[in-house]
Amino acid sequence: MARRRALSWSAALTIVAMALSAAPAPAQQDPITVRSKTWDAVELLGRSVAPGAKRRLFLRASESFAGTSVEIPVLVTRGLTPGPTVCLTAGVHGDELNGIEIVRKVFEKIEAAELSGMLLGVPVANLHGFRRSSRYLPDRRDLNRFFPGHPAGSSASRIASALFQGVIRHCDRLVDFHTGSFHRTNLPQLRADLRSAAILQMAQAFGAGLIVHSEGQPGTLRRSAVDEGIPAVTYEAGEPMRFQAGEIERGYEGVVGMLGNLRMYGQGKRERSQVFYRTRWVRVNDGGIFLTDRRLGAEVESGEQLGTVTDPVSNERSLVVAPVSGRIIGMALSQVVIPGFAAFHIGLEGGDPELTETLPPDQDPRLAPGQLDSEEHPE
Ligand SMILES: [Zn+2]
Repeated sequence: MARRRALSWSAALTIVAMALSAAPAPAQQDPITVRSKTWDAVELLGRSVAPGAKRRLFLRASESFAGTSVEIPVLVTRGLTPGPTVCLTAGVHGDELNGIEIVRKVFEKIEAAELSGMLLGVPVANLHGFRRSSRYLPDRRDLNRFFPGHPAGSSASRIASALFQGVIRHCDRLVDFHTGSFHRTNLPQLRADLRSAAILQMAQAFGAGLIVHSEGQPGTLRRSAVDEGIPAVTYEAGEPMRFQAGEIERGYEGVVGMLGNLRMYGQGKRERSQVFYRTRWVRVNDGGIFLTDRRLGAEVESGEQLGTVTDPVSNERSLVVAPVSGRIIGMALSQVVIPGFAAFHIGLEGGDPELTETLPPDQDPRLAPGQLDSEEHPE
């Protein structure tokens, strides 16, 4: 069932302008809240969940090599009073741990008695990968390229389908949690399709500090949810294989801020985020030992040295130089590399943090086709 609410850019920007000009911001009327006239027990994954209840359910998604069932845990907190259903998913890449802790913390801290609406949490979506400390499934497929999936498809497609049909289609909003991939790290940021007013509202309320506009690749959980009419964002923060306190706290606070904005929990907040409409990857041109002392969040000038690549045999050294001015929003850690390796992800200046002067993509010279470098392992 498609519930997409397409909004023109002018309508979206009017809403933003209204939200930014009013103080305090009026809570926006949410049709999802209005829709809920009654608030009874709901049937989820074969179990009844009553108002005020917290449950841990299981979604049968696959089987192990030994034939035992692989069941994805699904956390549910059903508020005492009506409201939207917000879904939090993590571990779609099995080695990305920060989001797993964010989801756990949300469900530990938020009590049903204080919640309007319902929270659905999938802390470890890719159990196969998580058990092997791997980004991928056992067949090397990336689960986040197979949504919404198909029940008779590849193993990835079947797991995606089970998750999408069992959980995601119940969501009114979705946040999918990720980190950088393979010895890369990301400054905490939301990836969001800012052409949608509802997604824009989510992203601003989350207050991650940084928003990167992107539609998302087809097959990602975020893009598939949006295509189904479910406003969705991705929170990207930190490195894989680690639990990082700052990134986790910011993600938790972001969820709380978003719930407040939806009038589901607490008061919310209005922390303004920097917005980038265009980003560019900086790639190395030589193989060898890549070393850098640059830090996430640093502002860099075009032509500035960002790191070096040294041939470990000949000692020949080449410089990694910023081709544009901007801010480092993602980067590789020091490691061995081959030519073409994506070392720095730079947000390009020129975006308007208040969105009020932004042109639609087809009229915005900053987003001319072909100018965007492809992302390295996005989401
Ligand atoms: Zn990921």
